[in-house]
Amino acid sequence: MQLLDGKLISSQIKSEIKAEVEKWIADGGKKPHLAAVLVGQDGASETYVASKIRSCEEIGFTSTLLRFGPEISEESLLDAVESLNNDPDVDGFIVQLPLPKHISENTIMEAVNPAKDVDGFHPVNVGKMCKGLPSYISATPFGIIEMLIRAGIETSGKHCVVIGRSQIVGLPMSILMQRNEYPGNCTVTITHSKTHNLKEICQTADILIAALGRPEFVTADYVKEGAVVIDVGISRVADASKKSGFAIKGDVNFNDVAPKTSYITPVPGGVGLMTICGLLTNTFKAAKKEIYR
Ligand code: NAD
Repeated sequence: MQLLDGKLISSQIKSEIKAEVEKWIADGGKKPHLAAVLVGQDGASETYVASKIRSCEEIGFTSTLLRFGPEISEESLLDAVESLNNDPDVDGFIVQLPLPKHISENTIMEAVNPAKDVDGFHPVNVGKMCKGLPSYISATPFGIIEMLIRAGIETSGKHCVVIGRSQIVGLPMSILMQRNEYPGNCTVTITHSKTHNLKEICQTADILIAALGRPEFVTADYVKEGAVVIDVGISRVADASKKSGFAIKGDVNFNDVAPKTSYITPVPGGVGLMTICGLLTNTFKAAKKEIYR
């Protein structure tokens, strides 16, 4: 079993981007600028946004954080999105999800200029990805793809089973794994909460991607000997032995599953740390106008 170490790979990617940004700026390029919009006071969102801003500073980007109270109207948030769309200094921006219930996430996502949609959530970017055209790949799928590449994991002709069909993880992951390039060329089965015989299907997976949000759901009896197991799940589970009062658990029971695998991602320290790299990569592409001129 080999560990796919998100801490190590993400720090390598950040160092690479930092060096490229230095060169880009030395050659007269504009310093990449990422803006983040945070609505309300959700604890997890605060942590994610703080880490995105910190990473920008580490690698030489400009960053801006726009905070709004939970009572902001959809209309006012749309105004904020529009002003970021029109701000020539902002290369890309994200609106941290989830948003309060009275605001439609789809309406907000669709208001973002696709050229600045560095989260890759806009239907134009999703559509381009489906067609295999250059686009912003959303952060979590980007992170997983990058892990497979850097470990040199063979994917062609393999059976990839994705558990979960969400817009931000399961669905884009299944599209990327079937495309006609590396990593890809898998035969993909996408499974979800209504799937019958989930365990039997998972047992046939050469590559198993678990993104269902059920802590330690995948046990050794779901996994074929020698499979590659990618654990996307992040759940907070009460744990009195921790200072915070909770432990972070993935969707895979690591200790049970790991001995059967060829490669596995830990949680924490796996996919979660990689996602930021997708956002930074997309923002740099936006600054270079690589995808949208
Ligand atoms: P989601 O709730 O939007 O989707 C979950 C999917 O899992 C659904 O499609 C549902 O049909 C399926 N599902 C639920 N229960 C199932 C079951 N018993 N059997 C089969 N399928 C089932 O979740 P999401 O946003 O895709 O996130 C999934 C997990 O990944 C969560 O734990 C989330 O916190 C985590 N996540 C991690 C990262 C990261 O950076 N590592 C990023 C996004 C989400």
